[in-house]
Amino acid sequence: VDISPGIFRPDVECRPPEQQRTRDRARYRTQLDYLFAHSAFYRRKLNEAGFADAASCGELDDIQALPFTEKDEIRKSQADHPALGDHLAAPRENLVRIFSTSGTTGDPCYMPLTKNDLAMWTEISSRSYFATGIRAGMTVASTYNAGPFVAGAALETLASLGTCHIPVGTGNTERLIRALQLIGPEALMCTPSYAAYLAEQLAERGIAADRLGLRRISVAGEPGGGEAQIRTRLEAAFGVKLCEAMGIGDISISLWGECDAQQGMHFSGGDFVHVELIDADSGQPVPITDGATGELVYTALQREAAPVLRFRSRDHVVCHTAACACGRTTMRVRCIGRTDDMFIVRGVNVFPSAIRSVVAEFAPRVSGAISLRPARRGVRQEPPLPLVVEMAQGHEPGAGFAAEIEQAIRARLVAATRVELVAFGSLPRSEYKTKLVDFGHIGREG
Ligand SMILES: [Zn+2]
Repeated sequence: VDISPGIFRPDVECRPPEQQRTRDRARYRTQLDYLFAHSAFYRRKLNEAGFADAASCGELDDIQALPFTEKDEIRKSQADHPALGDHLAAPRENLVRIFSTSGTTGDPCYMPLTKNDLAMWTEISSRSYFATGIRAGMTVASTYNAGPFVAGAALETLASLGTCHIPVGTGNTERLIRALQLIGPEALMCTPSYAAYLAEQLAERGIAADRLGLRRISVAGEPGGGEAQIRTRLEAAFGVKLCEAMGIGDISISLWGECDAQQGMHFSGGDFVHVELIDADSGQPVPITDGATGELVYTALQREAAPVLRFRSRDHVVCHTAACACGRTTMRVRCIGRTDDMFIVRGVNVFPSAIRSVVAEFAPRVSGAISLRPARRGVRQEPPLPLVVEMAQGHEPGAGFAAEIEQAIRARLVAATRVELVAFGSLPRSEYKTKLVDFGHIGREG
């Protein structure tokens, strides 16, 4: 199988940004007309915001004047108008799939798709997975829950890419190890947490992870795969190149994919999705320049069943716009964390994944596993934040090591922590996404 660098859709992914914007302007006008004609939800929402019709909304360049869409509004739309909500903008008979969200942060939502929507997801996700090294002719094992949930569209995508897919699902480590040994896939798709867990499980069984024949690991589902320490360790353990991808259920299961240059995930939604960057606190637009940080906001440009306008992703990223060695002209991002996990400590935004990233720099002395144990529930916390850091196997915490970590976190993130060091294996491992914050010691009412 040829896994040399390549581009799935060069005409789109290498298009000059200004040319893309011209195309997006036209599609945006059409999509606004569609929303006013077919979505009771958006007609009402935009009317209430003072926009009588599509024409009064202006052009793509005026999009900042329009209100955001929050996930809770979509949830409420479905609760008030069961089951699919009054944001449903396509006739029921045009739907070909209804996924549900896993409901980890609230009641599950339904995600209806038309034939065109599903084809669009497949196209966008194909660009994204291809960027991470998934190629026609490859055998690919995946551990995503690709059944009822939106990750199910990975089935279409991997088939469309021409791979031989071995869906293993979540929490089937024995089955996965057996498949890795007997079938010998060239690629594995999983969360970075699970890749780390699998490396430990293989080592425990005396199986050489780098002799299984894997050449690629494509990670997604949580931040971490793009962090140098985590990536380097996993690449060495498995003898692979590891790139990350990121999606969001309301827009496309995969929407960003990192190329071999490993300098952030390329935007893969050209022609289908418009991206904005905003300041999460003020909601004000942030220009997308090299090094800019903020929250991603998405607008569907061609969606039929459940289109969204200025949808707040809650994903905080740093942007990269400098030219990429691969030839793609699309912007790149690295995810810093999610608003849902964020703490505010004396006015400073602190992301648990950013703390993990600083701690990871103390490898090989630490295992990489951490757990934040805030003294109380809620976003606002008083310093210092209690933080449990796990030592690596065979490493003893020397005098002053905890203080060394605390200092590094304060220097990099302007946040005070109180570090408690624990022995290797003390913190729970995850077969899906790692919980970096633990309120378990507080109790439900705390
Ligand atoms: Zn690139």
